[in-house]
Amino acid sequence: MDVNAVFLATVVLVHGLVTLIWWMAGSLLGLSRRAAGHWMVAAGANGLALSMLPLHALLDLPAHLLFANVLVVWALISMRRGLQSFLRLRHTDLSHLIVSVGIAVFNLAICIPMGWMRVGEVIGTALIAGLLWRTAYENHGPLSFEFSESLAKSHSTVLGLAGALFAGAAVVMSIPSLHEAWRQVNAELTTFVFLFTHLLVSIASSFMLGYMVVMRLVKKLEHMSHHDSLTGLLNRRAIEYLLDREMQRLQRFGEQFSLLIVDIDHFKRINDRLGHAAGDAVLCAIAQTLQAHAREVDRVARFGGEEFCVLLPHTLHDGAVLAAERLREAINQVCIPWGDETIAVTISTGMATAENPAETLSALMRRADEALYQAKTDGRNRVVAAPRAMAA
Ligand code: GH3
Ligand code: MG
Ligand code: MG
Repeated sequence: MDVNAVFLATVVLVHGLVTLIWWMAGSLLGLSRRAAGHWMVAAGANGLALSMLPLHALLDLPAHLLFANVLVVWALISMRRGLQSFLRLRHTDLSHLIVSVGIAVFNLAICIPMGWMRVGEVIGTALIAGLLWRTAYENHGPLSFEFSESLAKSHSTVLGLAGALFAGAAVVMSIPSLHEAWRQVNAELTTFVFLFTHLLVSIASSFMLGYMVVMRLVKKLEHMSHHDSLTGLLNRRAIEYLLDREMQRLQRFGEQFSLLIVDIDHFKRINDRLGHAAGDAVLCAIAQTLQAHAREVDRVARFGGEEFCVLLPHTLHDGAVLAAERLREAINQVCIPWGDETIAVTISTGMATAENPAETLSALMRRADEALYQAKTDGRNRVVAAPRAMAA
């Protein structure tokens, strides 16, 4: 079978599949919708560009390289627009419009009628190299910030090498003696190697774009599974996991820690008097205040309803009581504006220190809960420390 036909079939299959995947990701699954739309166009245009040379070999298309260059420029601009929207970078739509229209007019409306084939090919190829390098440079920082340095490096390397490939081709085409020498060597083989490398770069860059979309989704799901949607604090599952780890540290290394269970006093009255939305605003304000007044190493979570949990690592009984009092006073200072009035709330806190390695996590939480109950029955707006659990 003719090598051109095989290459053409591969290009059509790969790019058809990539185009379909981006359409499905953006339209059906709603994943990074705008970026997926741009990357779908990019895959389509790039696939068409890569088909030009084998189509020329099979059908003898005129000015095929000029068309191919225009299509690759459009594909790269679409890929860059997709990345700008995906990474929330500054959009450069005006320059994209000028470049895409400019290269199309220059190559197709000036070079073809004037017979300036080589000039069009050299300028188009150099422009492609420039776009590839610009895109690699522009995305390195944001990719490294959101994902990892290794992903940013792989992305820059793939685009940078592709840029070098096109820049090399532009140099060879622009110097007549070099161009002649290249044709003498084995033009067909080198052209095929060039096209095959372009195909590999295209596959690698589609793979990396797909990886970024999936990684962002995974991170989002991970965040959702560990955080409370109303207050943004850690949720019960996340704090229970952290408490369990602290318990293991206590058992292995004897590292003590303390736990606060915080409950808003008479919260139901706020809901009943001002409505559920006011209750939600109070929950958010309390969450923010607890987070702001806890130390950086402390972990604050919403346990459920109007109950919060604060984990104080490396904190012994007296230190934990001081921290709990500090939080209680901070909440006493909070005034939440609601319509014409301001809402003030108080909290009751039960505190328990984990100092006995034989105690289980549920026993520790029960002690903190009982202390909270005591704080409520003692009149609310206070901190009660649970009696110490003595070592067995
Ligand atoms: P106490 O001082 O004894 O703790 O009294 P309380 O009114 O705070 O406690 P109670 O357990 O009777 O009421 C808690 C209320 O919290 C009842 C429930 O409707 C409300 N609540 C639970 N989750 C949410 C929420 O996500 N948003 C709002 N607005 N209210 C909630
Ligand atoms: Mg309450
Ligand atoms: Mg409660």
